[in-house]
Amino acid sequence: REPKPRPIYADTAEALHAVFGFPAFRGVQAQVVDRVLAAQSTLAVMPTGAGKSLTYQLPAVMMEGTCVVVSPLIALMHDQLRAATANGIRAATLTSVDTNREETIERFRNGDLDLLYVAPERASQQHFRELLTRGRISLFAIDEAHCVSEWGHDFRPDYRLLRPMMDAFPDVPRLALTATADRHTRADILEQLGIPTEGLIVSGFDRPNIRYAIRPRDNPLRQLQALLDEHPGPGIIYAPTRAQVEKLAGQLSTGGRQVLPYHAGLDAQVRAANQSAFVASEDMVMVATVAFGMGIDKPDVRFVAHAACPKSIEAYYQETGRAGRDGDPAVAVMLWAADDFARARQRLAEVEEHRRAGERTRIDALAMLVETPHCRRALLLRHFGEDPPATCGNCDNCIEAPGITDGTTVARKLLSAIYRTGQLFGLGYIEKVLTGVPDERVLQRGHDQLSVYGIVTPDEAPLLRPLARALQARGALVSTEHGGLALGGDSRAILKGEAEVQLVVVPKKEGRSRRKGAP
Ligand code: ADP
Ligand code: ZN
Repeated sequence: REPKPRPIYADTAEALHAVFGFPAFRGVQAQVVDRVLAAQSTLAVMPTGAGKSLTYQLPAVMMEGTCVVVSPLIALMHDQLRAATANGIRAATLTSVDTNREETIERFRNGDLDLLYVAPERASQQHFRELLTRGRISLFAIDEAHCVSEWGHDFRPDYRLLRPMMDAFPDVPRLALTATADRHTRADILEQLGIPTEGLIVSGFDRPNIRYAIRPRDNPLRQLQALLDEHPGPGIIYAPTRAQVEKLAGQLSTGGRQVLPYHAGLDAQVRAANQSAFVASEDMVMVATVAFGMGIDKPDVRFVAHAACPKSIEAYYQETGRAGRDGDPAVAVMLWAADDFARARQRLAEVEEHRRAGERTRIDALAMLVETPHCRRALLLRHFGEDPPATCGNCDNCIEAPGITDGTTVARKLLSAIYRTGQLFGLGYIEKVLTGVPDERVLQRGHDQLSVYGIVTPDEAPLLRPLARALQARGALVSTEHGGLALGGDSRAILKGEAEVQLVVVPKKEGRSRRKGAP
C-alpha cells in the first residue's frame, strides 16, 4: 500500500502555524527544531510549560517516517495522543492497555504515522525491535530523559535499554527532553543516550512571576489558612502522604473555600472528577500528593504550597513550576521542619550504596535552599547551571532580608550536651539540661552534675530550637531510631571550633504582618 501523501511545508514557521496555529516559536524551541531537522542529536532541558512536546511533534510532521516517542507513563501518553490528534497529527500509542495494537503496527509499517508513543520497557522486547526495522523511523524522542540517569531524581532502569535499541539505527537522530536536570545529570544523560556534548540546549529556567517563600512549619494549619485567605485564585497544596492529604483537605475545607483531595489511593473516577473540577475552577484548592500535576494544563494556578519539604530541588522546581504558567503573579510557599530532613537522612540507609552519595548531595542542596539567608531564586538558578543576579526582588529573603546570628557558641553547647548525655535524648530533655531545669529525670541520671548543666543563658535559650533545626537540616544532628538526637555530619568540626553555624532569624510575625503584598 502506498503511504498517504503528507503535506509539504515551506519552512518550520509555516508548519508551526498550519499544524499548531501558533504565530511564533517560544524560547529555544526554534533552535531545538532546527537541530532535529538537521538530523543532529540533541538534549533539550526546558522548564515545565516551555513547550517541549512541540519540539518533536513539529519535526515529526515535517520529516519522512515515524517519530518514536518514549514516555514513562501511559496516562501521559494518552494525554499527548489526544492533544496531537486534535491538531491533526497522525499519532498512536503502543501500550499494554491499547486494544488496537494490530492496527497501529499496520499503520507504522505503511508509513501512516507521524508519532508512535511507546513505554521504555518495549525497547527490550525483541519483537518490538524487529517491528522498528519494518517501518521508517524519522526520530527517536525520549521524554523525561532524566529517568536514564542514576543522578536524576527519578531513575528508571528500563531507560538504560534505549541506547542499544537506538544504536541499531545509527542514522536516526535522537532528541532527549527533560524539565529537571542539574549539571551532573545532564552530562550523564548525554553519555547514557549517546548524544554529543554540543547537542545540549538549555533554556532559561527563571520563572520571574513566581514569588518564592520558605518558612519553618510551626503551625501548618494556621499558616496554610492564611495563605488561602490571601490568595483567592486556584491553588495546589502538596502534602507527603495520602493520610495527610485527606486530613488537610478536611481541615481546610471548613474555611468556606472548595478544597478537594487528590492522591493515588482515591478511586480513579473520584480522581478524574476532582481533577476536572480543579481545571475548570477559578478558586478551588487541591490538596494533593505529588501524583497530582503531571500533564495538567491549568495556566492560572495562583499558588503552590508544600506542606512539607519536597524530595529534591528538582522536584521543588517542577512542582512550584505549576504556578503562574499564564505569566501573572503567583506564589510558591514551602513549610519545612527539621523532621523532614531527619526522615530524608534516615531513608539514606535504605538507598542502594552506589546511589547514596547522590541522594545525600540532593538533601544537602535542599537544606541550603531552606537555610539560605540570601536570594532563593539565585540559588535555584545556580543549581540549574545559570549565572543569575545576586538578588531577584521577588522572594521572601529579597523582600525582607532575614537577620543572621552567629550561633556557633550555642551550637557547641548544644552538641556538647547531646554528646555528654550519651546521644540518647530528644531536644526537650537536652534543653532542660542546658538551661539547668532540675527535673526529676535530670536529677535521677545525675545530669545536673555535668559541666553543660545550665550553661545556656536565658538570652541564648530561644536559639536552641532554631539551631537544632538548622543543624538537622545540614546533617550535623541526626535523629536516632528511638527519637533521640545524635551527632553526625560536620558536628565534630563545629565542636572543635573549625566550622561555624550561622543562624537565619526568621522575621517574627507570620504572613500578614510582613510587608504588604508578601505571601
Ligand atoms: P512542557 O511539556 O514543556 O511542560 P507543553 O509541551 O505541555 O510543555 O506545552 C505547554 C503549553 O504551551 C501547551 O499548552 C502548548 O500548547 C503551549 N505552547 C507550546 N509551544 C507554544 C508556542 N510556540 N506558542 C504558543 N503556545 C505554545
Ligand atoms: Zn530573591
